[in-house]
Amino acid sequence: MNIPETFGENVFNDQVQKETLPSEVYKLLRATIESGKTLDVSIAGTVASAMKKWAVSKGATHYTHWFQPLTGLTAEKHDSFIEPEGDKAIMRLTGKSLIVGEPDASSFPSGGSRATYMARGYTAWDPTSPAFVKEGTLYIPTVFVSYTGETLDKKSPLLRSMTAIDKQAKRVLKLFGKECKKVSTTVGPEQEYFLVDEEEYLKRKDLRLCGRTLFGAKASRGQELEDHYFGMLKPRVVSYMQDLDKELWSYGIFSKTKHNEVAPAQHEMAPIFGTTNVAVDNNMLTMEIMKKVALKHHLVCLLHEKPFEGVNGSGKHNNWSMSTDDGYNLLNPGENPENNTLFKLVLAAVIKSVDDYQGILRASVASAGNDHRLGADEAPPAIVSVYLGDQLGALVDSIVNDKDYVPKTAQKGSIGVPESPIFPKDATDRNRTSPFAFTGNKFEFRMLGSQANVADANIVLNTIVADAFEGFADELEKAKDVEKASNEIIKRELKAHYRIIFNEDGYGPAWEPEAARRGLLNNKTTADAVPVCFEDKNIEVFVRQGVYTKEEAIARADIQLENYIKIINIEAKTMVEMVRRDILPAVSDFVAELCTNVAAKKAVCEELPCIAEKETISALAQLNDEVVGLTNKLEGALADVDLADVVPASQAMAHVILPIMDDIRRRVDKMETMVAADYWPYPTYFDLLYSVNN
Ligand code: ADP
Ligand code: MG
Repeated sequence: MNIPETFGENVFNDQVQKETLPSEVYKLLRATIESGKTLDVSIAGTVASAMKKWAVSKGATHYTHWFQPLTGLTAEKHDSFIEPEGDKAIMRLTGKSLIVGEPDASSFPSGGSRATYMARGYTAWDPTSPAFVKEGTLYIPTVFVSYTGETLDKKSPLLRSMTAIDKQAKRVLKLFGKECKKVSTTVGPEQEYFLVDEEEYLKRKDLRLCGRTLFGAKASRGQELEDHYFGMLKPRVVSYMQDLDKELWSYGIFSKTKHNEVAPAQHEMAPIFGTTNVAVDNNMLTMEIMKKVALKHHLVCLLHEKPFEGVNGSGKHNNWSMSTDDGYNLLNPGENPENNTLFKLVLAAVIKSVDDYQGILRASVASAGNDHRLGADEAPPAIVSVYLGDQLGALVDSIVNDKDYVPKTAQKGSIGVPESPIFPKDATDRNRTSPFAFTGNKFEFRMLGSQANVADANIVLNTIVADAFEGFADELEKAKDVEKASNEIIKRELKAHYRIIFNEDGYGPAWEPEAARRGLLNNKTTADAVPVCFEDKNIEVFVRQGVYTKEEAIARADIQLENYIKIINIEAKTMVEMVRRDILPAVSDFVAELCTNVAAKKAVCEELPCIAEKETISALAQLNDEVVGLTNKLEGALADVDLADVVPASQAMAHVILPIMDDIRRRVDKMETMVAADYWPYPTYFDLLYSVNN
């Protein structure tokens, strides 16, 4: 396989555009993509026809507008290229069909009663993300808006947030003599996932309906030997990963790194970063391809944040930076950050915005699945804080405390063996416990869940940083001496937002009380995290930056809560069904068998000891009764929740329903360890986590 040759073979990328479009049209299209010039619609017909011709040569018969509604997934409706000409069929894609589509909007989430959205929705071509051919269809990335112009997807606000940061960052750069055509945000999302054998998966109702196990006693071996992380890849996993890379590369996705993660059966893929907009589309496609390739290998790829209790969950580290069209990375500290005023100003903007808007940043990663992860095991806690590392930490301390900065120079490393090479060491160690860590020339936002659409977090990040830039630019444009005024702003903001910086262990028990003392938010559940989005300050920042209207901001928070409620409702109902139809009968059968055995023993000889059976019978009978009682309680509590009233309903889910579910689970997991293996109705954690053995 010649990778450079086949890379991106399914994508209508720059090279294909150049080859298939007249040069004038090509230039106009690239101007839109690269420097944000408004698309000249007169070229749509020509682009459409070239795209169709190319797609047909790749075996496509259909096209679809591909969009990202508020379900968190992608959506597509396929139309064939076929059009009648006399009684013959020709293949055609018109400029209009490329630019606009009209799916019915009424079946997608729109924010319920508080919004006034109409049923009519439009998809509109997003030329900044390239079209591609997949499974016989030409996929055209689009945005999705309503008849009245409200955004109904994740892509339009993302693009708006990128426009906002482009505009404000350019103002700041200009003051430092760095003019450029465009500032783009860049993202590299590291995707974690689990692989389990398909046969075992199909036997678990909870995995199939909820994406996570609702029951399951811990396997005797979890991740305590620390042997899975970066461990040798099993042949079946190797073969999966090879196939996955091949597929991803054909769609122009720069899959770069692959390795085993901490938990048994857990793995990761990291791509090379790209422009946020394309990175988001690529990540959505990556998740889909991961699942599809798995099925070919009789595996199932689990993208849920916490498929298994007691071992690590899956996240998606969002590496984020900003760079100009001529390649200048705004978060590159350079050799001497202490003298790099522009860098310090950018750093101050990020720190200020993360502190000011920690609530909506936290909310942007909140979901029913991710609630199980934040604060547990490997994941960062639910408290947002910023890690700067030794070097920048010392720099910021010196500014805040008016002290001289003693640069910490990078050292050279050696293992003390003459044959072994001397290697350069970073100026700073890593901190894996921080939710928002500076990692050399980018920030790594680590709170995202593995199945999230990364658009959510990036919409917020881009918006709040754009807002900080705007404030700084307003001030600096009036200043006589930009350098001096910048240093004043840097000092003022770092002092004001110093509390958000935390360079120590984010998992340690000392951090929670310390964070509380600093007045940082600690919203542990989605139900508690999302309502901050209804606060004026948190709505206004979106409105100011032209990312959401007030109605859109409210509608989105409503939908997020609605989604949370629905997921927990499904989980609770699945739990009830599993208990009543599978678990209670299985336990009862096993107890009956033990009773029969006791009776049989007694029939042979009254004195035969039966302690083993009797102890088990009595413990199981007791637990089974408790489980029935709790299941009745769960059903009663569910019936009391008014699902339509999102704020109280989400509170009930978080603080009433989930705790009862937890009580049921504890007992069922205990019973699992006491019932004979043959009787237990589901594959165990051992069966699932160690199902890929070869
Ligand atoms: P790690 O040690 O955390 O794996 P890497 O340097 O390998 O760190 O980077 C992790 C991710 O960060 C990769 O997806 C990489 O492409 C991405 N990345 C690197 N530089 C940038 C940047 N300037 N903007 C956004 N993402 C970046
Ligand atoms: Mg990383």
